[in-house]
Amino acid sequence: MTSGTPELSRSSCKVAALAGGVGGARLAGGLAQVLQPENLTVIVNTGDDFEHLGLKICPDLDTVCYTLAGLANPVTGWGRSGDTWQALETLSRLGGPSWFRLGDHDLGLHLERTRRLRAGETLSQVTRHFCQSFGIQAQVLPMSDDLVATWVHSDAGTLAFQDYFVRRKCQPRVSGFFFEGAENAQPAPGVLEAVAGADLVVLCPSNPWVSLDPILAVPGVRAAVQRRPCVGVSPIIGGKTIKGPAAKMFTELGLESSALSVASHYQDLLMGFVIDQTDQALSGAIAALGMAVCATDTIMNTPQKRAWLAKEVIEFSLALVGKPSSTQTAEEENRSAAKHR
Ligand code: GDP
Ligand code: CA
Repeated sequence: MTSGTPELSRSSCKVAALAGGVGGARLAGGLAQVLQPENLTVIVNTGDDFEHLGLKICPDLDTVCYTLAGLANPVTGWGRSGDTWQALETLSRLGGPSWFRLGDHDLGLHLERTRRLRAGETLSQVTRHFCQSFGIQAQVLPMSDDLVATWVHSDAGTLAFQDYFVRRKCQPRVSGFFFEGAENAQPAPGVLEAVAGADLVVLCPSNPWVSLDPILAVPGVRAAVQRRPCVGVSPIIGGKTIKGPAAKMFTELGLESSALSVASHYQDLLMGFVIDQTDQALSGAIAALGMAVCATDTIMNTPQKRAWLAKEVIEFSLALVGKPSSTQTAEEENRSAAKHR
């Protein structure tokens, strides 16, 4: 497959990727392997962030950073590989809250982040420092330095995100979401610039409701994404998630759990959507929403498969941006997308 235009190739393509935790980190890890590091900015959800044991915990930022640093635990999808649990054991024996699992190395990072924040650094500054220490070359940005908290409306009441997600294991039936503080939050320094300067915005295969919607709710972000070529990757494969409650959320909200529903959720943003080959039969219906479709293997269970999918996503997108979208008909888009099937 050749790239789109001579001017824009994979080696020069600037990407801004919007990411939550597991699915976001997997594709971000792939993009980091196939792009020039200075051309990749990962903008990460902080709606999951909370204070626990007096510490500031940023689950999605940490999953992305641990993944890019090669330190992530591949089995759990959160935390660090080879971490130990002595602090948590002591805390638990003393009657402290142990429902949120924090390994010893992980705790060290939360201690230092909390110390720096209390000393007056912003979350972006702390994140930049950690990325440098971990040798991460891509730019990782929190969506905002201001507090934005995801709340889940459910049949068990309105729940703080981690209460719903971890303590109650996503069991309550959801009816909606609320991003407290979003309307007054500023995008973190560099966020709007990264999107505006991107040749391509990638919506990672993250939970649309509670990973990417909070980012898009930060004032200015959605409008900035709308002005750039944008492609997404479906987190729903064969109606199910690989991990997490996204499929259950679609169903509980009265929507079909499918890649088509995800495409429709982002219809105002996407010029192209990458779905799993399992869902190939949905290609026509997704194309009818006005976007090109690429059906391929989207399961990123090894570093090689992450890089492979990242390359597919970029090349599919370059083929689309190679032509001015105003002159490209839906039929032409589908034809160019079909090359990737
Ligand atoms: P969280 O913040 O940890 O919940 O993670 P995200 O919101 O970033 O990602 C959760 C989504 O990632 C789930 O809906 C999964 O189906 C999806 N996901 C995880 N691994 C993969 C993968 O290898 N391929 C695809 N297509 N989706 C994945
Ligand atoms: Ca998350």
